[in-house]
Amino acid sequence: MHLAAADLSALIALCRAEIDRHGEHLGALDSAIGDGDHGANMRRGLEAVFAERDAIAALPLPAALERIGLVLVMNIGGAAGPLYGTLLMELGRALPDGDEADDLAAPLERAIAAVARRGRSGPGDKTLLDVLYPVQAELVRRSPPGDIAACARSAAHSTGPMQARRGRASFLGARSIGHEDPGASSCALLTAAICGYFEEHRPS
Ligand code: ADP
Ligand code: MG
Repeated sequence: MHLAAADLSALIALCRAEIDRHGEHLGALDSAIGDGDHGANMRRGLEAVFAERDAIAALPLPAALERIGLVLVMNIGGAAGPLYGTLLMELGRALPDGDEADDLAAPLERAIAAVARRGRSGPGDKTLLDVLYPVQAELVRRSPPGDIAACARSAAHSTGPMQARRGRASFLGARSIGHEDPGASSCALLTAAICGYFEEHRPS
């Protein structure tokens, strides 16, 4: 997937719209196994990034992603804020200088590793990482955006039968089984929105 600074403003708007549309659903998922604030947290974070989108899109790509990460940390709050923030900040730091990035697989691998360190979490813990790992694997395979989006959705769905081992949901023990993880769900929504954009703007 080829990412350019010129894509950022539209991508931010799409992500904000997607989270806005599904905020209630994310809140309901979090009410089942957490404290119900995930939709509101994500909406607050994406609103803040959206408000800054022109200034962000004027930065070089790595600095723009770092800035998005910082705005997310400052505005999402909860457990998800530092995790989404780390993801974007580390992705920015892992990108080469310039306004375009051709290969996101390696930078994303580094960024996901930083999220895992920050959350002391890994595969199967029933978190947003359970979406990020398979999405990164699809990037390595150079799968088309539609396939990556489908993979993200099915990965989020697969967190349902898992027992949470990290975050608030882990306090429920076995009672966390049977509910999709809210962070995995928001991550899949964002991935699908981004993939939808690249499907429409695929270089010919
Ligand atoms: P909080 O749990 O503080 O209310 P949110 O509701 O916004 O924060 O986010 C909850 C989501 O954050 C979970 O669904 C999970 O995906 C993710 N999460 C929580 N703790 C961790 C962790 N230690 N590692 C990875 N992801 C985590
Ligand atoms: Mg919560």
